[in-house]
Amino acid sequence: MVKRLALSRGRSVRKKFLPFCRPLIGQEEIDEVVDTLKGDWITTGPKTKRFEKEFAGYIGSRFALAVNSATAGLTLGLAACGVGSGDEVITTPMTFAACANEIIHRGARPVFVDIEGDTYNIDPVEIKKHITPKTKALLPVHFAGHPCDMDEICAIAKEYNLKVIEDAAHATESVYHGQKIGTISDVTVFSFYATKNLTTGEGGMVTTNDPDLFEKMGILSLHGMSNDAYKRYSEEGTAHYEVIYPGFKCNLNDIQSSIGLHQLQKIAQFYERREAIWKRYNQAFGQIEEIKLPTERPNIVHGRHLYAILLKSIDRDWVIEALKAEGIGASIHFISLHLHPYYQKTFGFKKEDFKMASYVSDRILSLPLYPKMTDEDVEDVIRAVKKIVESRKC
Ligand SMILES: *Cc1c(COP(=O)(O)O)cnc(C)c1O
Repeated sequence: MVKRLALSRGRSVRKKFLPFCRPLIGQEEIDEVVDTLKGDWITTGPKTKRFEKEFAGYIGSRFALAVNSATAGLTLGLAACGVGSGDEVITTPMTFAACANEIIHRGARPVFVDIEGDTYNIDPVEIKKHITPKTKALLPVHFAGHPCDMDEICAIAKEYNLKVIEDAAHATESVYHGQKIGTISDVTVFSFYATKNLTTGEGGMVTTNDPDLFEKMGILSLHGMSNDAYKRYSEEGTAHYEVIYPGFKCNLNDIQSSIGLHQLQKIAQFYERREAIWKRYNQAFGQIEEIKLPTERPNIVHGRHLYAILLKSIDRDWVIEALKAEGIGASIHFISLHLHPYYQKTFGFKKEDFKMASYVSDRILSLPLYPKMTDEDVEDVIRAVKKIVESRKC
């Protein structure tokens, strides 16, 4: 017998609502923050330096620069790569607004291209079709934590002399063909926003192997002021500073880095839990015809940030409402950028311009996936999804 949905006054799967995401902050993070607050240095200082060093060590990149958001990191990457007025940057529409907005704030134009039907990542074949003399950079996004096809993307960048700035907000743990994300292209940007796999409340990190880009981003992150540059260009000493670019203000402070230091130490442990939940979901949903499971190509490590399924025929927005009534939080990543009013008005996009992105955008659904979930929470999500999908079969 099919159980009656909570939406139709049936009994809900859970009494206590399971939020879509909850951070997992331990006593270690709390103690470190308190230690920082009791000391003399609360803004960017020794703990941020240590966090940068340990993050670079974890990723295996030469350099890491802590920033107060991935959004700011994208701006630094774009600016340091010379993206400016009149330029074009090719990116995916299946992403967060920050990617397009930061391109626009540089005075450049975001050029969307369609996505692959399995990974929902930017399609390299489409990238090639959209390169013009104005194209300056590529901004791929590792959707949900599945690495983009970086061999193809880097080959295109090389052929056309383009910079690559990767959005790795979902991809802190991701590996592409044996190379950790964050070590491959010019600049890679990570997010430590509250919902991300590693959080500092708000925050981010930029990695690069290029000393010039690293230096430039460091200067840009603090008003464009440079003691180092001053030292290089003058003999007058270090108390002075010079503004050598119209910079930004996006440094991460030591209070936030205190959290990050301990989150980083737990990242493997968190990942293990995410992976176990992921596998349980795959096993539970694998037999359901209505649901398309997340893809995993060979020779990659998935970052396992979002467990995003496609609903083939049932109305996605209705499923979110039904899940909510059952006591389960769900989310949408993403409503394709070309469907939002601003980009439609400004760039004249139509829904049919990016067929795969439109298709996925209408059907995609993210389920709760975080280490704080208990086995019971996981089973509740499975029960609720099955109940809702089965109710539609009759
Ligand atoms: C979260 C997210 C961002 C923005 O990160 P912030 O740290 O909040 O600026 C950018 N891109 C993607 C794909 C994201 O998911």
